[in-house]
Amino acid sequence: MDFAFTPAHERFRAELQEFCRKEVTADLFNEMKEAGEEHHPGFYRKLAERGWIGLQWPREYGGRALDNLHTTIFFEEMEYAFAPVGRYRGSVVFVGQSILAFGNEEQKRYFLPRIARGELTCCWLLSEPNAGSDAAALQLRAGEEGDDYILNGQKIFTSGAHASDYGMVAARTDPGAPTKYAGISLFLVPMNSPGLTIRPLWTIGGWRVNQEFFDSVRVPRTAMLGEKNTGWQNITRYTLNFERAAIAKTGTLLRLSDELTEYLKTARYAAGDRMRHQLAALRAEIIACRWLGYKVAWLYDQGLTPTNESSMIKALTVDLLYRLADLGSDILGYAGLLRGPEAPLEGHVEFLLRSIWFHLVGGGTPDIQRNIIAQRGLGLPRE
Ligand SMILES: Cc1cc2nc3c(=O)[nH]c(=O)nc-3n(C[C@H](O)[C@H](O)[C@H](O)COP(=O)(O)OP(=O)(O)OC[C@H]3O[C@@H](n4cnc5c(N)ncnc54)[C@H](O)[C@@H]3O)c2cc1C
Repeated sequence: MDFAFTPAHERFRAELQEFCRKEVTADLFNEMKEAGEEHHPGFYRKLAERGWIGLQWPREYGGRALDNLHTTIFFEEMEYAFAPVGRYRGSVVFVGQSILAFGNEEQKRYFLPRIARGELTCCWLLSEPNAGSDAAALQLRAGEEGDDYILNGQKIFTSGAHASDYGMVAARTDPGAPTKYAGISLFLVPMNSPGLTIRPLWTIGGWRVNQEFFDSVRVPRTAMLGEKNTGWQNITRYTLNFERAAIAKTGTLLRLSDELTEYLKTARYAAGDRMRHQLAALRAEIIACRWLGYKVAWLYDQGLTPTNESSMIKALTVDLLYRLADLGSDILGYAGLLRGPEAPLEGHVEFLLRSIWFHLVGGGTPDIQRNIIAQRGLGLPRE
């Protein structure tokens, strides 16, 4: 067991920090916050120019052939800086990674280099109005017609659908399958397809998600990702694991706990033991969580699938974000609820208090993560 980073990891982290100091300005943060967007095309282009999109992909597909720890370090530093990386996650972690694992050669050669160059962005359309936590209950139908499939139905809560060129759509291709898990296939669908309507939904944090209506959307047979009717067992479970680890906000936790610590050092009142102890206890949990994230990256590099650990890290980071934002508003008092130029800590506490609900649900609620840990990790029977 080796707990040290390599010189290459250290260099990469330093490079990211320097980049973020220069590029993630207060204006960029405010622009993204006001627009409710986790994506900024100009910033995304700069990530592509640096060769940071698709770090872990093979070189032949436009990647850098680096280990997964590089990707974990990337997210940690981007989150620490409050950089907009929502479409990065959608394009690289959700869709690109699934194409790499399950796509045919033609799909890999078409999509991956374009994603890596920042020319093509993607989103993931799994949830439906009656299939959220129970996503396998999805009803969007893909029926065969000659060499094409025709998609009819609805998706909901899609992050970044309006800022994506392609969507990875989960659809039912065999409604007569013996279980809800069988008979699902995935399709790579242009988001400007005729018959596909995207409408915004605004969340409590000000962030935009979307609902999509598929009215006889036609895609060729070649748009199918992986094998017909095996999309749930093979691809969706794999993608969900990747998603859960990648949306863990360890960098945000580190940043806010650093900021609150500095604030307490200079606060005009002496922080009582309660606040100091709460901050210290949270810091210990945040560091433990950070190491769990590194372990997940390492497990992927060993060719293993960390289902249990991915759910642990998702459940843990959400809980920590909630408690840290709560402690932040306690430490700052009413000032913690301010936004704009007068807000202390650049308004980060107010921002987190509003956006915590966004992080809570995406990738599956804490209840669902705990179900997975109970079943897969502890071997307990379903309730
Ligand atoms: C900001 C945001 C971004 C999102 N982005 C995407 C995206 O890009 N793509 C996508 O496909 N989806 C996305 N989603 C959808 C998200 O994955 C679902 O909202 C989530 O899985 C919960 O589904 P639901 O909202 O239908 O809640 P429900 O499934 O109706 O759950 C309601 C409540 O019941 C609890 N519950 C449900 N089932 C169980 C159970 N078996 N055991 C214990 N408790 C249970 C839940 O924990 C929750 O508290 C996003 C959601 C949000 C809010």
